[in-house]
Amino acid sequence: MIFFELRMTARILDGNKIRDQIFAELADEIRVLTAADIRPGLAAVLTGDNPASHLYVKSKIAACEQLGIASGLITPPATATTLEMLNLVEGLNRDNQVDGILIQLPLPPQVDTKRVLEAVDPAKDVDGFHPVNLGRLVSGRPGLVACTPAGCMELLRRNEIKIEGANAVVLGRSDIVGKPMALLLMHANATVTICHSKTQNLPEVVRRADILVAAMGKAGFVQADWIRPGATVIDVGTNRVTDPAEAERLFRNFPERMEKFRAKGAALAGDVHPDAVNVAGALTPVPGGVGPMTITMLMSNTVKAARLRRAPAARRAMQPAASPGRAGR
Ligand code: NAP
Repeated sequence: MIFFELRMTARILDGNKIRDQIFAELADEIRVLTAADIRPGLAAVLTGDNPASHLYVKSKIAACEQLGIASGLITPPATATTLEMLNLVEGLNRDNQVDGILIQLPLPPQVDTKRVLEAVDPAKDVDGFHPVNLGRLVSGRPGLVACTPAGCMELLRRNEIKIEGANAVVLGRSDIVGKPMALLLMHANATVTICHSKTQNLPEVVRRADILVAAMGKAGFVQADWIRPGATVIDVGTNRVTDPAEAERLFRNFPERMEKFRAKGAALAGDVHPDAVNVAGALTPVPGGVGPMTITMLMSNTVKAARLRRAPAARRAMQPAASPGRAGR
């Protein structure tokens, strides 16, 4: 008897391509708003000297510059107190040129992060972390939605992945990814299961997923044989791998990636084992999938915040150019 091994290669859901589409739409909108004297503005607060935070903020400011969004960088020292941070946020809340306030995390340990995030005016909360915006998301009312889950939804929608009626499994229940992701999928009429570190029989639960969103922070944790053949996999995990044995476990079937790892001594890996590409129907790569969408949705939220906050003038400006179905409405 001859056995055939059924192998498929997943369609790659390219985050860079979707970012370019959304950037083009945003650039048009920003041009119209700016011509009407409403130039969207983002204030980035970068506290202390965390090198990763510096890199993230740099790329967010570069995206603003590319799109014509005004940006300001405020750099409190690593010794900043909660009170100083609260005063700073209060000033930004009052500044009419600032539509979005980005507090780059983590804040230094002596600062009460929750208090600072809750001090941000919900209308300027472009990260979507404020309880008011989370509450709006829970009740399905318009608001500013956390960037990474909003970006995952754009990846699904713009690649025409059917969400309604799908079984969606979300791995992770953090406030910034897992929970809002599950809510967005539920509002889009998926049947949603949320998993966490205490979930029993994880492989079995994952096998039921038509859409799997992995946001655990564990490199290659989800094995290829957990994936339902043809499922859509959104891999949020962004894990830096430096251990050669770990790299071998992940990239053994991907000589080019192994080669790159050897050259650099490090590589990024998602939460889903790369072999899943032979089982899934569609899959986001790491890097180049969800990653580019997070900054994209930050830009989208900033424009949305400008439009909503300065509503009458923005409505007048946008009327001739209104385009239904654009990101982040
Ligand atoms: P987090 O706050 O650490 O949350 C991780 C979640 O995974 C928790 O809910 C945890 O469960 C769950 N978990 C951990 N081990 C598990 C296991 N063995 N089985 C099932 N669930 C498990 O992380 P996060 O901030 O949500 O981020 C998750 C990942 O996404 C990280 O890799 C992060 O770097 C990445 N990320 C990427 C982007 C991007 O732009 N690409 C943006 C944000 C985050 P418990 O609640 O029970 O502890």
